[in-house]
Amino acid sequence: MSSAAKAYDYIVIGGGSGGSGAARRAAGWYGAKTLLIENGPSGGCCVNVGCVPKKMTWFFASVNEMLHNGVTYGYDIPKDIPFHFDEFKRKRDAQIRKTSAGYETNWNREGIELVRGTATFKGSKELEVELQDGSGKSRFTAPHILIATGGYPVVPKDIEGSHHGITSDGFFDIEHLPRNIAVVGAGYIAVELAGVLNAMGVEVHMFIRGETFLRKFDPMIQKTLTKRYEDAGVVIHRNFNGVKKVERLDNARRGLPNGDIREKQCEPPVPEKRLKLTTVDDEEFHFDELLWAIGRVPEVQDLDLASAGVNLTQTGHIEVDDFQNTSVDGIYALGDVTGQMELTPVAIAAGRQLGNRLFGPPHLKASKLEYSNVPTVVFGHPEVGTIGLTEPEAVGKFGRDSVKVYHTKFASMFFDIFPPEEKAKHPTEYKIVCAGPEEKVVGLHILGEGSVEILQGFGVAMKMGATKKDFDSCVAIHPTSAEEIVTMK
Ligand code: FAD
Ligand code: NDP
Repeated sequence: MSSAAKAYDYIVIGGGSGGSGAARRAAGWYGAKTLLIENGPSGGCCVNVGCVPKKMTWFFASVNEMLHNGVTYGYDIPKDIPFHFDEFKRKRDAQIRKTSAGYETNWNREGIELVRGTATFKGSKELEVELQDGSGKSRFTAPHILIATGGYPVVPKDIEGSHHGITSDGFFDIEHLPRNIAVVGAGYIAVELAGVLNAMGVEVHMFIRGETFLRKFDPMIQKTLTKRYEDAGVVIHRNFNGVKKVERLDNARRGLPNGDIREKQCEPPVPEKRLKLTTVDDEEFHFDELLWAIGRVPEVQDLDLASAGVNLTQTGHIEVDDFQNTSVDGIYALGDVTGQMELTPVAIAAGRQLGNRLFGPPHLKASKLEYSNVPTVVFGHPEVGTIGLTEPEAVGKFGRDSVKVYHTKFASMFFDIFPPEEKAKHPTEYKIVCAGPEEKVVGLHILGEGSVEILQGFGVAMKMGATKKDFDSCVAIHPTSAEEIVTMK
């Protein structure tokens, strides 16, 4: 250890969801002398380029959807309602800055020291930080060091011109909506961003490797949501074999079709960017924008983990045990950098449990996050939510004969006054997966308006080990969609 290193009880690398949750628990609850090292905006991915701006944009798009639905309800709403996405973006950015600043206020209040810069290991107990204020490098040491450095979105390196496309980070820089966009990918981000773009009137093409998107979700969700997107006008290119080349056709200003509403909405009216996408099957497409949504990778490149001896998994994530211990004593990791359920509340909860274990009272010395039955939702159009096992997973675990599935599909009352063919395009669909003679609920999968709010309470029930009988014993709330979950036969 260098004598110049400043000593702390706890050093946390990364002030995102996990790092902030961890530092606040250690310093705020237990008074540990804590240093937080952050090289980007406070709050990390979720606040700045993730959950928060995404959800705000989802609200923006949902307003547009509701305005269009209002016509069926008898409102005299013009067909093409002008909107100002750039104005919304300015407001969204301002709110994000406030939320990010709120993180620093909390850290300050709880006595957490913040150093702005990039951390690199110098052995297993010491870190060197390249300070962002230009004042050089500083060294810090602690018996406990947490790595919570998150991840970043993948841009394929082996595809010529791939850098002409954007990722979710670039999506949040968009001020003027493209007329059309190619979305490559079929996971959370592809589905959420394609959904909002489509709801805002952008022509969306999704390029997916399989038949459906969200392939880790229950087959019911995959099938129904993919069909719903198609019904809503998203063009889905299935069994896609890949992009060969992306070319930028610079300054290819095109005339917009007469009366294109976006000519009035956008300033400048015609996006400058025009891309030619050639697939490996030599098909050619032209788009104003290309969004890579093909996954995220762990952020470890600046850390020099080899110097500390920290092991990585085959996917390049930091290897941890159930208690967030890495392969090195006194070094821990959690959140996206470990690839364990890449969700904000998971990272926060893991950080808090680690704080309890390291600095809390003796009865909390075995604290750890339980990663089972974590509810998760996709802010699609409509929303979907899932907890626990999919039907195939349950069958694999318990055997077909021990699994009972309850299923219902209907149109929400909201669409009752829509023409039948339109109503049919808006399914709500729920599935309960039960196991064993007592019919313990081991999986819940829901799709339809309101799903993101409905799921949380059922998460509590499943954590408590609810059976189908427990679900049925709860009196329904009428008239709602959610009542179907407690009345399913
Ligand atoms: P991060 O939040 O990424 O924080 C890591 C921090 O470490 C960053 O601030 C980074 O600057 C810093 N850092 C990295 N390397 C260094 C270094 N060497 N030195 C110093 N600092 C460093 N999750 C949900 O639960 N719900 C959602 O709706 C949701 N929506 C999402 C939408 C999008 C578009 C994306 C991309 C993600 C979304 N997520 C959502 C996932 C969620 O944002 C992440 O799971 C969560 O932010 C992970 O937290 P983390 O602390 O592990 O990492
Ligand atoms: P995901 O892991 O969810 O999805 C990645 C997608 O990329 C998969 O559908 C995969 O398709 C596809 N893919 C991978 N490689 C290629 C390729 N070469 N060509 C075409 N498609 C490819 O990652 P995301 O980036 O969408 O999201 C990262 C994580 O962030 C999520 O897993 C989630 O944990 C979190 N997140 C959470 C949100 C929420 O809570 N609402 C919202 C957004 C993100 P295939 O099906 O073929 O494998």
